[in-house]
Amino acid sequence: MSGGGQVERLHAVAAAAPARLADRFGARATRLIRMAEAGLPVPEALLLPTELIDRVAEEGVALLEPLLAPHLATLGDGALLSLRASPPDAAWGGPPAILNLGINYAGLTALAARVGERGALDLYRRLIQGFAIGVAGLDAEAFENIVLDQAKRAGVSGEGELDVPALERVVAAMRQLYEEEMEAAFPQAPAEQLTAAIAAMARNWRSPTAEILRTAKGAPADAGLALIVQRMVLGIGPDVSGAGIAHMVDSRSGAPRLWGRFLEQAQGQDALMGSRTPQLLTEAERWAEGQSTPSLEERDPEAPPALERHGAAVARLLGDVHSLEFTLEAGTPWLLDAVPARRSARGAVRIAVDLAEAGAISREDALLRVEPQHLVEHLHPQIDPAAPRDVIGSGLPASPGAATGPIVFTPDAALAAAAQGAEPILVRPETAPEDIRGMHAAAAVLTARGGMTSHAAVIARGLGLPCVVGASDITLQLRDRTLTTADGRRFGEGDVITIDGTAGEALEGAPPTIPAEVTGAFATLMDWADAARTIGVRANADTPQDARQARDFAVDGIGLCRTEHMFFDAERITAMRQMILSDAAEARQQALDRLLPMQRGDFIELFEIMRGLPVTIRLLDPPLHEFLPHGGEEMAALATAMGLPVEQVTARAEDLAEFNPMLGKRGVRLGVTMPEIYEMQARAIFEAAVAVNGKDSAPVVPEIMIPLVSANREVELIKSRIDAVATQVEAEAGVAPDYHLGVMVETPRAALRAADLARSCTFLSFGTNDLTQMTYGLSRDDAGRFMRDYVNQGVFPEDPFHSLDLEGVGELLLLAAARGRGARDDLTLGLCGEHGGDPASIRFCKLAGFDYVSCSPFRVPIARLAAAQASLLARRETA
Ligand code: PEP
Ligand code: MG
Repeated sequence: MSGGGQVERLHAVAAAAPARLADRFGARATRLIRMAEAGLPVPEALLLPTELIDRVAEEGVALLEPLLAPHLATLGDGALLSLRASPPDAAWGGPPAILNLGINYAGLTALAARVGERGALDLYRRLIQGFAIGVAGLDAEAFENIVLDQAKRAGVSGEGELDVPALERVVAAMRQLYEEEMEAAFPQAPAEQLTAAIAAMARNWRSPTAEILRTAKGAPADAGLALIVQRMVLGIGPDVSGAGIAHMVDSRSGAPRLWGRFLEQAQGQDALMGSRTPQLLTEAERWAEGQSTPSLEERDPEAPPALERHGAAVARLLGDVHSLEFTLEAGTPWLLDAVPARRSARGAVRIAVDLAEAGAISREDALLRVEPQHLVEHLHPQIDPAAPRDVIGSGLPASPGAATGPIVFTPDAALAAAAQGAEPILVRPETAPEDIRGMHAAAAVLTARGGMTSHAAVIARGLGLPCVVGASDITLQLRDRTLTTADGRRFGEGDVITIDGTAGEALEGAPPTIPAEVTGAFATLMDWADAARTIGVRANADTPQDARQARDFAVDGIGLCRTEHMFFDAERITAMRQMILSDAAEARQQALDRLLPMQRGDFIELFEIMRGLPVTIRLLDPPLHEFLPHGGEEMAALATAMGLPVEQVTARAEDLAEFNPMLGKRGVRLGVTMPEIYEMQARAIFEAAVAVNGKDSAPVVPEIMIPLVSANREVELIKSRIDAVATQVEAEAGVAPDYHLGVMVETPRAALRAADLARSCTFLSFGTNDLTQMTYGLSRDDAGRFMRDYVNQGVFPEDPFHSLDLEGVGELLLLAAARGRGARDDLTLGLCGEHGGDPASIRFCKLAGFDYVSCSPFRVPIARLAAAQASLLARRETA
């Protein structure tokens, strides 16, 4: 057997190949081996590898004695020993530690010479109690009661205050109880205590309950257990002795800060058990918490700096920040274990960047360590995780962040509240395009209906507003402006609530929040991500405000400008409505002539903001009736503005209504049947480009994109019209406008016919919102109502509008990419559905050879990090 079944000395095992060590000795022992080799103060120990413990479980404990005997002396004559489990992964659990093995009656005097009489008795009491419960399996409560009875009798509050006679009585009572229960005396021989404890741990590990618990946490059924027999350093004894835990970073911010808990005259986890109030490590901590008990720093000024030095050495050695479990033996700190530091999502960024800057890990590793989704914690204010939450409604987490404010039930009320300086929460059944101005005025949005790509969700993400959609457990009574929760509580206009768009919940009142933070470590990580990524990240930006936000997040361009979002301004919508409602070509042209300069102005602004970067403009997409007035009052006002009878306006609006507008006259179908609109847009784009290009260098080459294509003939028709407009603009301006034409692949047919399409254009951009909707035959606006059930019952692994369905929609993407590039090898491929901000979807796009993804501006940092990770992993896979 190659070392199989042998006992090994901790300080004699070489730390090379930690992965192999972990298989044999478990995670804890591997850490200790590495720490010991690096010269950190780790007490001597014997390691019992997994194969040896397997043998003990099968052959019995007798085989251990000859194996242990030659080594025990190396731990020191008469040393007290601890026995600890070291499973391959700490998360799999394991039997609790047994401490103070080796004490017996005969040795008590010698022990008392070391740690005092009281200390010796306390240690013996702990051994009997721990052994009786952990090894003999006796009832813990009966032993605790012995301590409580004696404390009561002595009139003291706990075991820490028991004097020598009281402890003598405790020891005697515990030994007697043990003897009665076990019908045998408490074992006196140290070797017998140790082997019995080892056998018990081996049995415990193999018990069906332990096995079920760990396999539920992902452990293989045959996972082995290694054990550590370690010389006890004594936290009970002379001078400043005790045990505690030292944390090296602030768990919320990740910034370096020594803090923790310590308890004098204690051992193991005593400081965390709550039987006595623990001391704090530093004076700064003690002042901050207003604690009167002296801190460790006050008791032993050298201990905290020593712990800090050890913490820094462990971070360099293990490549991550760890908290140290330590024992102070007469003023000397010893390390019993190092456990990875707990950290918030924000803390993880700071820790990863600090480690890379200190040279403990590479930049690549720092990038791979941060979960991209967790960056939302930096980008928006968040509810303090420690705050109590009174949830009044839950739905889909459509747009992250937290905002608090008074409820309003209409977009107009949102505008009015904002005008008075409030930050209202807009609560609606769902939102529609005409609600955009109200949404702009709101601090957050809550809708009772809708899915992850419903109007409210898409717009809120674009605006960076916290948003919860599909909160089907609230009921809205819009007439009396109230909201009723599932448990019958009522909230009216002006009542203050908080939207937690990260968790998908609405909360009563104003819980404390943590502000956004996009500088410092976050900015550094973003720079590293940009240097590492080999796939572009663009933004979906419709307005100058979006474009500025996107530039602030360092995008590679605009991948989707939804031009319909440029028409909701009061003046524009009137001109648009006149255009839609005019029967006569002349009147329609007049309305378009009014819209042209506005559109041109929009594009000039976008081009200027994005100077030097590509800007993809999508021609008008939604069904025209979405622009029409709703309700009698609005109809009447429009009829007056147009000088037409209201009946005529109403009749025309009814004419335009469709049974299924999502599949009706929208997208390119509008362009084919009402070409003037696209011609106006093309002209506005070209004139804007000419105006901007006249100013200075870096020419703008607009990318014009045609939505909802299903046949190449549609592209040919639109292209010939755009070319004609380009020729006209050239004749007027004296410069030939250059442009790239692209097609949005949003229908399964477009994906299948990608080769044809690629011959007519230079780029394909996958609109995976519509493509998902059409591939599944699942309404993006209605799916939110049942998506939770579908995901909970495992019908879909995830909401396919949120994370790309790789098996179905993904196959269409792969097929279209291959067919498109087969027809044109320099074809640019992008994705601009909401999936462009989803890390798993971005990884797919990278593997599929896409050139860029495009997402809402506030998801850009997440996409940049996910793109960097996808690029690094792809590089590693091919290396
Ligand atoms: C899409 O369908 O994926 C897309 C980007 O277009 P929209 O969401 O505007 O329909
Ligand atoms: Mg679409």
